[in-house]
Amino acid sequence: MPDSPTVPVLKAARAQVLGDGVGLDEAGVLAVLRLPDEHLAAALQLAHEVRTRWCGPEVEVEGIVSVKTGGCPEDCHFCSQSGLFTSPVRAVWLDIPALVEAARQTAAAGATEFCIVAAVRGPDERLMAQIRDGVKAIRNAVDINIAASLGMLTQAQVDELVALGVHRYNHNLETARSYFPQVVTTHTWEERWDTLRMVRESGMEVCCGGILGLGESLEQRAEFAAQLQELDPHEVPLNFLNPRPGTPLGDRPLLDAREALRAIAAFRLALPRTILRYAGGREITLGDLGTRDGLLGGINAVIVGNYLTTLGQPPAEDLALLAELRMPVKALSGTV
Ligand code: SF4
Repeated sequence: MPDSPTVPVLKAARAQVLGDGVGLDEAGVLAVLRLPDEHLAAALQLAHEVRTRWCGPEVEVEGIVSVKTGGCPEDCHFCSQSGLFTSPVRAVWLDIPALVEAARQTAAAGATEFCIVAAVRGPDERLMAQIRDGVKAIRNAVDINIAASLGMLTQAQVDELVALGVHRYNHNLETARSYFPQVVTTHTWEERWDTLRMVRESGMEVCCGGILGLGESLEQRAEFAAQLQELDPHEVPLNFLNPRPGTPLGDRPLLDAREALRAIAAFRLALPRTILRYAGGREITLGDLGTRDGLLGGINAVIVGNYLTTLGQPPAEDLALLAELRMPVKALSGTV
């Protein structure tokens, strides 16, 4: 396997991150993001060693379902679910039997996590009622951990989700604080941070990541990694922009695959103990080969099946790749 003892940032990371489990700071992340292509393999190799040492060999498999798709009042410029753009995603609600069936299928595919997602600024009473009924119905019928992603929460809503037994809450910061106003104007980065703080204080696991390739600079990508490090989430979903027609970022180019892989290595070296999850956009950005490189470069969780508004690859393909790489799928008993 390649190693680059001559590259100062990788040498330092080998001692600090692999040896001591202490993530790279913002300057270190930036140095990794700036590595020339000939050192990419070495960075991925080190990130993989870090992930194996501090997280173990297992890969967490998760499924997601959308209870309310489209028609969101917010203006996140990458999102086809905003009702403010011409993107062709209409508001659609899922009923409780369909939700339970989706959880059943997700568990049958080998996943331990089932995340209920809604395209909203934050839950209203109608959505909270549906979550209440849906979580109870799933818990009665399916053996799987339930996560939720419902936008910004009040303290009372945080408390209710805890009481329902929701064990992980997803809320993405999306991008660096300094770049956020270029991407979203209907709410602030700080409002998102407030929800994350309440979730963390509640005892629910925090899942927080973002999207790379929104037009942020490498410096802002490093800033984002450092901000995630400060939050210290249990899980970080890394998305790569899949430009959706009709959104303000619909014409942006895809992130270069090598740049995306460098980012995976850099985020792993910033967050040695976090579950780092491939989320949307990986197929189109990385292709099959890149998916493998990422799993051997610091990623340790995948979403099976479809994403919220775009198609992923069939669960069987991901599971076959994990088997081929000899990466065990995390068992439910290990997470409850
Ligand atoms: S990212 Fe979330 S809050 Fe933003 S427009 Fe899309 S669904 Fe709404």
